[in-house]
Amino acid sequence: MYGKVKLHLQQELKAIADAGLFKNERIIVSPQDALIKLDNGKEVLNFCANNYLGLSSNPALIEAAHETLDTHGFGMSSVRFICGTTDLHKKLEEKIARFFGTEDTILYAACFDANGGVFEPLFGEEDAIISDSLNHASIIDGVRLCKAQRFRYANADVADLEEQLKKAASCRFRIIVTDGVFSMDGNVAPVDKICSLAEKYDALVMVDECHSAGVVGNTGRGVTELYNIRGQVDIITGTLGKAFGGAIGGFTTGRKEIIELLRQRSRPYLFSNSIPPAIVGAGIALFDMMNVTTELQDRLHQNTDFFRKEIVRAGFTIKPSKSAIVAIMLFDARLSQDFAAALLEEGIYVIGFYYPVVPKGEARIRVQLSAAHTRENLEQAINAFIKVGKKLQVI
Ligand SMILES: *Cc1c(COP(=O)(O)O)cnc(C)c1O
Repeated sequence: MYGKVKLHLQQELKAIADAGLFKNERIIVSPQDALIKLDNGKEVLNFCANNYLGLSSNPALIEAAHETLDTHGFGMSSVRFICGTTDLHKKLEEKIARFFGTEDTILYAACFDANGGVFEPLFGEEDAIISDSLNHASIIDGVRLCKAQRFRYANADVADLEEQLKKAASCRFRIIVTDGVFSMDGNVAPVDKICSLAEKYDALVMVDECHSAGVVGNTGRGVTELYNIRGQVDIITGTLGKAFGGAIGGFTTGRKEIIELLRQRSRPYLFSNSIPPAIVGAGIALFDMMNVTTELQDRLHQNTDFFRKEIVRAGFTIKPSKSAIVAIMLFDARLSQDFAAALLEEGIYVIGFYYPVVPKGEARIRVQLSAAHTRENLEQAINAFIKVGKKLQVI
């Protein structure tokens, strides 16, 4: 039986490889950090992790995880509503709500699940979801699982958004959905203007803060802090898998009734396991840490400003943004791959992105800054960019 399918799959895989789109995974044999060790023995500086606050291997979080293993065991063996809720799960949900200034929080196994399970319980055929064209795959999938009418607006384009809101005027409810920070350009969504339009056209607002929480805003509380609009965004989704420790876990936080209904009806919550206690214990320690000091956010912001300034001064073209993502534009797909390979030789690990991940003719190197990077690390990276840039005649 498998014969025909096998042949078909082999052809598919070959087509992916022939198109140069085959994803090879690099193997790391050290903990995730600014400096990592690869399985070929090479040590490289990591500029492509979502480890924005440098917490992936933070000793206090590791200790909290260890302690929780001792007090609450390894696994929950249950969904939340049967026997998968501990005192710690409730405590973490409360801490997340306090962090964002929202009313309540619901945890998921990942933000992919939070986004996958947020629309279907809340919206039906008579409603409209108005979504940014560059929203994350999990939002796109979540919208697909829901019967609401779909409207799309060009990335961060408030004029187009207004057009779509007018088109959706006859629907019962409208919700505008956007990523807080878009992962490829690092641009921050204009959530202040989005909230004004939501007010004018009677719509809810949902922001996916995966790349913005912990990063954007003076104390890292995300886009609602950056634009000073705390309390105006109805639904925020986020992850514990990026700035917030980098392990796993997602959440939806926002209006009380919304979260309450999600607990009753959201399928990834009802039909998937509880996140393990050690992750939850570390999460609690993390949000406690965020309340005590903004040292990590401060360092991340300093690192990002420094890197951005120096890379522009060296003659590179970057996309403007306020996030910890710096898109260094090379435009040519082949060049982006050669550039990344040459940087790896110099001990700098970054990824070159090209079509179809980014638009045609917009190939780039994406650099992600971290609070874990030292000034020396940044200087080493900038010097490597200059060396390779000159060699490949980019600057
Ligand atoms: C990473 C990411 C997700 C998925 O988060 P996980 O917790 O890893 O599933 C969802 N949305 C956006 C915008 C992301 O960047």
